[in-house]
Amino acid sequence: MLTVHEALIALLVEVRPFAVETHPLAETHGLALAKDIVSNTDSPPFDKALMDGYAVRAADIMNGRATLTVIEEVTAGHVPQKPVGPGETTQIMTGAVIPDGADAVTPIEDSELEDGSAWSKTVKIATRQIESGTNIIHRGTSMKRGEQVLPAGRLLRPQELGTLAEMGQHMIAVRRQPRIGVLATGDELVPIFETPGPGQIRNSNETMLVAQIRRSGGEPVPLGIAHDERNHLRERILAGLECDVLLLCGGVSAGKLDLVPSELEAVGVRQVFHKVQVKPGKPIWFGVFEPSDTESAADFDRRCYVFGLPGNPVSSMVCFELFVRTAIRQLMGIEPSQPAPVRARLTKDHVARGNRPTYYPAYLDWNESGPVVTPVKWHGSSDLRATVEANAMVLFQAGDQIHQAGEIIEVFRWEVDTATYTN
Ligand code: AMP
Ligand code: MG
Repeated sequence: MLTVHEALIALLVEVRPFAVETHPLAETHGLALAKDIVSNTDSPPFDKALMDGYAVRAADIMNGRATLTVIEEVTAGHVPQKPVGPGETTQIMTGAVIPDGADAVTPIEDSELEDGSAWSKTVKIATRQIESGTNIIHRGTSMKRGEQVLPAGRLLRPQELGTLAEMGQHMIAVRRQPRIGVLATGDELVPIFETPGPGQIRNSNETMLVAQIRRSGGEPVPLGIAHDERNHLRERILAGLECDVLLLCGGVSAGKLDLVPSELEAVGVRQVFHKVQVKPGKPIWFGVFEPSDTESAADFDRRCYVFGLPGNPVSSMVCFELFVRTAIRQLMGIEPSQPAPVRARLTKDHVARGNRPTYYPAYLDWNESGPVVTPVKWHGSSDLRATVEANAMVLFQAGDQIHQAGEIIEVFRWEVDTATYTN
């Protein structure tokens, strides 16, 4: 049986990032850059005033005081016409170009304009000691022309979009969102708006998985419920293979009606792995479907990656976060694609049991000692309710052992760290 790490490697070997497409910048939120971005501009593009006030020669200001002749007024969007000579100043607004000769800006609050004729105004400045560069941001301080600003693989958030806009990059190389089918299996399932009869339960996993897909950047395609009956299941699977990724839920373990693995193989989905050393989620199945008319390399985009997720809700949820999310990020070219843990200190002793590494619902918080994590009260893979008190999962390695309060341990967060991208 593969470890989680081995299963992730096996998955990443199979999943090919989508072909690169060009999209209008404003539509790329939540997608990943497919190419490095090198700046085509200096930012700011000129030495710029950071305050409303007076552009001065710092050497003219003795102990914060000076009386200077005002030679010009420059507002943002306009270019100064006169250099500032000794004893002179230009009144300047935030965002305006610093005139030649000036090397600092004194705040407007620290000055008093004296009455004079229309041709000759003077200003009295009383400010703190200033030096060359005070209240100026120099050309290219935040970004220089020719510098790599954003790497390929970077998830595009509002700040990346703004930075690209600043450079005038209005068409961006990205990869599309995958369409992800969700097919629940099980004779006990009824749609969530129906009242379950004896022995029945609602198909709650579909709703949860659809939300996890959105949170991870994919586009969900709910496919309803398949019965535990070969012909019906096969027909629903064939419809689902039209998607980029197909999630089946339930029917992957060793029960009498666990038909999913054999039906997937029957329709030609190539198994990559079945069962992983993980708790919850051991029965997970993963495979690849290649349409038989695949000819060129570009047709990797027509593959369907198929997951058989265990039906217990927490198993489904955890397997999604570990494996499906990784596949989605790999398809979209988001780096890193694999789950990235943080380290936190356990707040209380925890008795761990079992022969597989366990991803245990937990609450990650911060206190004066840094990140701290508390496992929640949890009754196992069918106890989804416990996870509403959690925002993360902590990883307890295999083996019966007592983890002591204060121990530093790996934690995988569940927060939204991939933007939700909806059309
Ligand atoms: P299975 O993996 O099919 O053996 O199902 C394991 C457990 O998960 C059973 O108790 C199922 O009733 C439950 N289960 C399966 N599918 C779903 C679903 N879509 N929503 C909620 N619970 C489910
Ligand atoms: Mg079942």
